[in-house]
Amino acid sequence: MEKCYLHICGVSGPIILSSSAHLLRMKQVETFLKEDKILLQIDLKPALSEEVLDKRIIKDFEENKNRQFKNSLDELLPKKMIEAIIILSEISPEKKVNEITKKERQKLVRLLKHFELTIKGFGEIEEAIITAGGIDVKEVDSSTMESKKVKGLYFAGEILDVDAYTGGFNLQIAYSTGYTAGKSIQNKERKL
Ligand SMILES: Cc1cc2nc3c(=O)[nH]c(=O)nc-3n(C[C@H](O)[C@H](O)[C@H](O)COP(=O)(O)OP(=O)(O)OC[C@H]3O[C@@H](n4cnc5c(N)ncnc54)[C@H](O)[C@@H]3O)c2cc1C
Repeated sequence: MEKCYLHICGVSGPIILSSSAHLLRMKQVETFLKEDKILLQIDLKPALSEEVLDKRIIKDFEENKNRQFKNSLDELLPKKMIEAIIILSEISPEKKVNEITKKERQKLVRLLKHFELTIKGFGEIEEAIITAGGIDVKEVDSSTMESKKVKGLYFAGEILDVDAYTGGFNLQIAYSTGYTAGKSIQNKERKL
């Protein structure tokens, strides 16, 4: 198993998207990234306490007594996670599960409940769902979406410096500002 595997993994999903938006706004983020100070801790088994998880692993190991450690985690983890967990557990993948010590098992439990990653940077723009930055909303009349600087110029959606958590809010921003801008243009044309 190659150690470098662990250096190329990425994390995604709604919580990660929202967290990354907060991180990007943090003044010292670049320094903290360089100094490996931004850590992400994931509870891979949130429904089980450490004690219950330990019992569950004991049961799994008993049922797979003669199997090697690397072949005993199928029921516990998604396929893609198994290799990483084996490396980080520091338990030999070839070791028979009935030879795994209590100390090793307890380390495995802690690893699953406190899976820690060091954040090294942000994903590429191509992977982004929403963009921060853009036209300053102070420069736009929110009742019409017309620019305060350039008459007859309207803004809506992503081009504005507005971003929200994922969950439909960004689409709502696009729909509401688009509707307002469209209606304002229509009203203006009627008056002409
Ligand atoms: C994968 C993904 C998942 C998302 N999931 C969610 C979600 O779950 N909830 C949520 O709230 N938001 C979500 N978003 C964000 C949301 O889709 C955007 O905030 C929203 O679509 C922005 O609308 P918009 O009209 O401003 O821009 P866009 O939807 O990007 O529309 C801009 C349009 O302009 C066109 N265009 C660009 N340049 C030109 C040009 N020169 N001439 C003519 N046309 C041009 C583009 O082709 C595009 O059709 C997601 C975004 C992505 C990428």
